[in-house]
Amino acid sequence: SLERVSATTQEEIMGALGGLPSEVRHCALLAADTLKAACEDCSSRSKTAAEPACPGGRSGQDVEAARPHAAGTGREEEERRQIEARMSRVRRKVVVLSGKGGVGKSTVAVNLAASLVMSGKRVGLLDADIHGPSVTTMLGLENSPVGGTPEELNPVDSNGLKVMSLAFFLRSPDDAVIWRGPMKMAAIKQFIKDVAWGDLDFLIVDLPPGTGDEPLSVVQLMGKVDGAIVVTTPQKVAAVEVRKSVTFCRQLGVPVLGVVENMSGFACPQCGKITSILKGAAGKDIARDMCVPFLGSIPIDPQVADASDSGLAFVRSSASSRTAEAMRKITGLIAAIDDSQAATSPQGPADPDEREKKR
Ligand code: ADP
Repeated sequence: SLERVSATTQEEIMGALGGLPSEVRHCALLAADTLKAACEDCSSRSKTAAEPACPGGRSGQDVEAARPHAAGTGREEEERRQIEARMSRVRRKVVVLSGKGGVGKSTVAVNLAASLVMSGKRVGLLDADIHGPSVTTMLGLENSPVGGTPEELNPVDSNGLKVMSLAFFLRSPDDAVIWRGPMKMAAIKQFIKDVAWGDLDFLIVDLPPGTGDEPLSVVQLMGKVDGAIVVTTPQKVAAVEVRKSVTFCRQLGVPVLGVVENMSGFACPQCGKITSILKGAAGKDIARDMCVPFLGSIPIDPQVADASDSGLAFVRSSASSRTAEAMRKITGLIAAIDDSQAATSPQGPADPDEREKKR
């Protein structure tokens, strides 16, 4: 029964599984915690559905929607306190989002995080894109063991970058596809609550694509978020999605640090010349129309996909390329928020070239 699952202790689970090697104990406990969270979610939903409509005429669904800020259960309160304690050691929390998948959101998140490390910052990278966790592949970290205890997971090190991803706990990348919403959220909550990030200058979070429940829940779990980077491709059709992403951030009170236009032209690996391929300038256009900064364009470079073979982020393995240079330029703008109040101050001119002139 749901009650029986919720009451199951960690000792019982370990006893039932018997003699698990210590390095995989946390996988079993993460699975058990996730199952518990799913059961609790199911119980609370059926309770809400059974509630009569209130006198004001609101349905049970509306009541549920109005609940997030109400006082939680004892366990929820405790979790909130733990999340606050972890997050209080992070100076800047930055989310990377996109209107849809495949535009290079994870690529931007990985290389932004790696270049912040190269510039001397203490950085964590949380792969919260539970649809297709690809951060570990990009950094050549597949099958890396996660150390620590079930209550305190150690992030995996990648040349000084602290990484945590659901992929570390999956047998195959396709496994995440069958996870239901509450299970995914339980895993993400555990990463925010139980990962020993330590003191960080930046926690970069690769959000699930779109503007639906999943990115919304992740942002709400994190508490205050210092800024968002919206990634797009140049085509006009992408503009609709970018607008939605900017509106999403505004509704959540997350300052938009700016828009990045990825796959913006092709950078020849031999001569570095950039040739336009995908027509349009969606990033720049939307940044101007919606009064948010334009952070820069990143050209297509075939080496981006090959970087994972070297186990290094692209900005390290192809540091001298035009594409890596473009990524570093964007990183410079983000790094600046660590030393200034830019994340909360009125935003400057949308174009980085204009900002440069102004400076
Ligand atoms: P998303 O996170 O938006 O789904 P990814 O970052 O996973 O997108 O990128 C999708 C694919 O495009 C990956 O195979 C990645 O290597 C490739 N890619 C992303 N940006 C570039 C780029 N600038 N040049 C070449 N390939 C890129």
